[in-house]
Amino acid sequence: MQIKENIFFSFWLNLLEKSKTELQNIFSLFEKYAINEVLAIGSHSKTVLAASIARQKNIFFQTWKMMLINNDKQILREHKDWFTINRDGKSTADFPPYVNYYRWLCPNHPQVLPFLKNMVSQYCKIPELSGFHLDYIRFADVILPPKCQRQYNLTQSTEEAQSDFCYCPHCTSSFENEYGYDILSIKDPTQDENWRSFRWQSISSLVNQLVDLVHSYDKKISAAVFPTPDIARNLVRQDWTSWNIDAFYPMMYNAFYDQDIKWLAQAVNECRQKTDKPIHAGIFLPSLSPAQLHNAIELLLELDINGISFFNFNAADSEKLKVIKSFK
Ligand SMILES: [Zn+2]
Repeated sequence: MQIKENIFFSFWLNLLEKSKTELQNIFSLFEKYAINEVLAIGSHSKTVLAASIARQKNIFFQTWKMMLINNDKQILREHKDWFTINRDGKSTADFPPYVNYYRWLCPNHPQVLPFLKNMVSQYCKIPELSGFHLDYIRFADVILPPKCQRQYNLTQSTEEAQSDFCYCPHCTSSFENEYGYDILSIKDPTQDENWRSFRWQSISSLVNQLVDLVHSYDKKISAAVFPTPDIARNLVRQDWTSWNIDAFYPMMYNAFYDQDIKWLAQAVNECRQKTDKPIHAGIFLPSLSPAQLHNAIELLLELDINGISFFNFNAADSEKLKVIKSFK
């Protein structure tokens, strides 16, 4: 088949505890396998090192950062009020839902944006950095994907109080100032359209301010988002098509939604109906056999996308790397 020349292949990569030699070997492998881009998570010093190796290999390098999920002990100790609060009045700082690391910062707390901007600036000052890649830029899942519900032995058909965020004083008072009523006085806040869109806007406004900051450093900004605009809004209050970022990496992890590979086409089409911006389809490597991976890439290359991003390098055994290479 004819492969589009300009399709980017990317890997999400964890830099944690990797030595300089290991990183050089990994980036040499990426060069050999014609990988165009790396989205890499790691400390500032590891990022400086990896970004300079990537530059030598002519690989586009974005730093990948967890934004609103936060388990930093110092932040938890000193700024407990920064964390989201559910409809039962419980903070994710003390009562993380689902898993013990689900502690989330509130996008409407006035100190959260400056905190994030400071972190973003530190990384954007790295000269070899090409872009900043946002992850966990949303509220905690009010509804989990079907596979995760089974994993945690849950059945979620409505937005339940313990996973519905955020009812902190900053969110509720900002909402009241904007819409003229107290959301806590409403019998069923889950049915309130204004409250729904207020929370979409809370995330979008935060993102769009980070966009301006990243662009001021002449870097690109992108984000890992939920797989379709509807799923993103309904499960995690992420209205990503209203974000001014440069490229979207929807995590089209079909197995999480009990879908087969054909669903990727539907997901891409749903994204395309809502945005003209670059779409890099995110593929979850652990749930695909080499043959399924081949079929997924073949299908995606026929669609209106700009790249395919593989999660993540740890799950890329030699068989799967060979499949990826066969398309380049
Ligand atoms: Zn809040």
